[in-house]
Amino acid sequence: MRNLANLPKAHLHVHLESTLRPATLAELSSANGVDIPEDLRRGEYRFTGFADFFQRNGLVRDSLCRAEDFHRAAVEFCEDEAASGTRYAEVSFTAAAHGERVGDLDMPLASVLDGLAEGRRRFGIECRVILDHSRRRSVGRAWRTLDLAVRYGPAGVVGVGLAGDEAFPLAPFTEVFQAAAEAGLHIVHHAGEAEGADSIREAIGIGGARRIGHGIRILDDPDLVAEVAERRIPLEVCPSSNVALGFVPSIPGHPLDRLRRAGLAVTLSTDVPALVGTTLTAEYALVRDAFGYDDETLADLSRAGVDASFAPAAVKRRLNEEIDAWLAA
Ligand SMILES: [Zn+2]
Repeated sequence: MRNLANLPKAHLHVHLESTLRPATLAELSSANGVDIPEDLRRGEYRFTGFADFFQRNGLVRDSLCRAEDFHRAAVEFCEDEAASGTRYAEVSFTAAAHGERVGDLDMPLASVLDGLAEGRRRFGIECRVILDHSRRRSVGRAWRTLDLAVRYGPAGVVGVGLAGDEAFPLAPFTEVFQAAAEAGLHIVHHAGEAEGADSIREAIGIGGARRIGHGIRILDDPDLVAEVAERRIPLEVCPSSNVALGFVPSIPGHPLDRLRRAGLAVTLSTDVPALVGTTLTAEYALVRDAFGYDDETLADLSRAGVDASFAPAAVKRRLNEEIDAWLAA
């Protein structure tokens, strides 16, 4: 049994705001005058459900105010990911929401990109950014998100997509994502987490997604499973997040293994690691223990992440070679 922390990994579904270390959150919330419950500051909070999660997560986001806060979040993210064997990450960031809140649309994203560049120099981890937009929020803000993504594409933004409460329909945003595709951006929507298979159909249909955040409820619809497997649309599966937010009863009860057996391109991510107390290495260990995966299977899971990423071909090749080397060691 090889050391999973050394398995080279691609991390595709992780929200920067939800990676803040508890100590950093405590410091930033105090500095910026945001009242954070004590258990959240200690990293010991247990969510009672999705609504509770949104409320708490909002407080965490509000604790990021100054350029140095966003920069620090990005640098510490790189340090923590490097410790988890992440060699390449596509980190989600709700840039326009922060920009509007702090009164400077560009500053949060520019600061994050600057921090990720520092993280690359210091910790050798390659990062790209996906700008997410909450389905609850305005179409106008979604356009501003797209504008940021286009302008900061050369600095490392590779995609856009919808996140947040899936009860809110995707349809009002259709034109935004048509324009995103025309601009050459990748599209990744959260779907099939809280809502059923129809939300996945919508995401890969009018939503234009070529990768799905979560998608765990796809198994309810065998025709859709066949289509998504055939089109090789990868799923970003985040077991601990699903359990913590109450979508799945337990890790052994998680559909990840059934999704793989159904022939789907399954990748492993953390979603909101600091808020649910996990790391990418811990997720690999959890599925190893729950499903009895051997090192070859875990290496396959990691390769699936590399292959599903939006990394340049040369980076994918190098990462897959590193995974081969881990297996050969
Ligand atoms: Zn997510």
